[in-house]
Order: sequence, then structure tokens, then C-alpha cells
Amino acid sequence: MSPLPHLQQREALIATARQLNPSGLNQGTSGNLSLRVENGFFISPTGMDYDALRPEDIVFMRFDGSSEGPRLPSSEWRFHRDIFAVRPEVHAVLHTHSLHSTALACLRRGIPAFHYMVAKAGGSDIRCAPYATFGTEELSRLAVAALDGRKACLLANHGLITVGADLAAALKLAVEVETLAAMYLRALPAGEPVLLDDAEMAVVLEKFRTYGQQSQ
Ligand code: 13P
Ligand code: ZN
Repeated sequence: MSPLPHLQQREALIATARQLNPSGLNQGTSGNLSLRVENGFFISPTGMDYDALRPEDIVFMRFDGSSEGPRLPSSEWRFHRDIFAVRPEVHAVLHTHSLHSTALACLRRGIPAFHYMVAKAGGSDIRCAPYATFGTEELSRLAVAALDGRKACLLANHGLITVGADLAAALKLAVEVETLAAMYLRALPAGEPVLLDDAEMAVVLEKFRTYGQQSQ
């Protein structure tokens, strides 16, 4: 038998998927993730336990929506495909039903600039896309719009999407957004959170460009 192409990318996708439950980002088989390669992307199969995934279960998809492999792709392949199509800098897409982000999304509320770390998602807020049925073109259209200029968005009555230059970045941002959502939900019943203005968020965004250990 010929070796499985892109074994390393398939294994990276599985390794990230297996971090979702321990990170508290997912329950059961909800959520999905994808990784861009030449001429298409790899995506998790629909409705499969992450612990059971083997490299051959990871589905290769082309941008025309055709797929290869023994498994059916995630029901959300459209928004993964459409995000890759309009965001060339994005190489990984992650979708979860994490508790706090989803609770906020059920209120159809995004995350405003109540904390400076909101800027980690690329702007002064994290939008909540209007509701559409899972797996639909409509949901994809709404998600792409809510992600404009951002690396994360909530999906009304559904969950969270994060994107990144690689799987690790998308996962790290999902943990960050989930933490922000938990903080915001904690602050809301205690009063009206004071929001940072756009000028301050612009300062933070600029500082993030050089924050942390700089590569040598
Ligand atoms: P899949 O198992 O098809 O990826 O669906 C899970 C999900 O979160 C749908 O929105
Ligand atoms: Zn979902």
C-alpha cells in the first residue's frame, strides 16, 4: 500500500483535536477543525470521536467542495472552505461549542472591549454572527462576514470560530476567547462593564505587534 500523503498534517490535526476536550473547549463530537495545504485543506470527519481518529479518517477537500477519503467531511466544511478562500493568511480554522462562548452566543451578544485582551482577536470587539442552521451556506456567509478583520467570532445559538496561521494559534485563541467570554459573563450580572474606547484598543493592538519574546 502506498504511504498516506500528508501524514504529518493529518497527525497535527488529530493532535489538536485531542487537545479540545482536555482544554475544556469541547464536549463529545461537537466542533471541527481544518488545516490548509496546497490545492485544498484537511478537515475532521463528521460526527467522529476525536480519540478514535486515525490519519486516514482525516478528509482532504478541494475548494470546489469535492473530497477524498473513506469518511464524510465535517458538516461545516462550507465555512472552513469559504474562510480559507477569502483569508489567504489563515491556515487553520477551529470551531467549538465551548461553554462560555456559546452561552454568550445564545444571548446573541458578541464580546465588546470590556478587557484589553479582546484585541487578541484582531480588533476592538468579537462579533456574534446572526443565527443560521448548522452546515448551511447561509451560516458560512454570516460567519465570513463576522470574521471580517478578526480572527474569532461567535455564532448565535451555536458556538465559536477561531482562525490562525497554524493549528496551535487557532487553539490558543480559542482558549483566550473562551476565557474572555467567561469573564464577561461573570461581570455582566454584577453591573455594566466599562468599555475601553477605540483609541485605547488601537494602542493595545499596536503594542501586541511587538509584545512578548521577539524572535532573534
Ligand atoms: P461535525 O461533526 O459534522 O463536524 O459537526 C459538529 C458541529 O459542531 C456542527 O456545527
Ligand atoms: Zn457546531
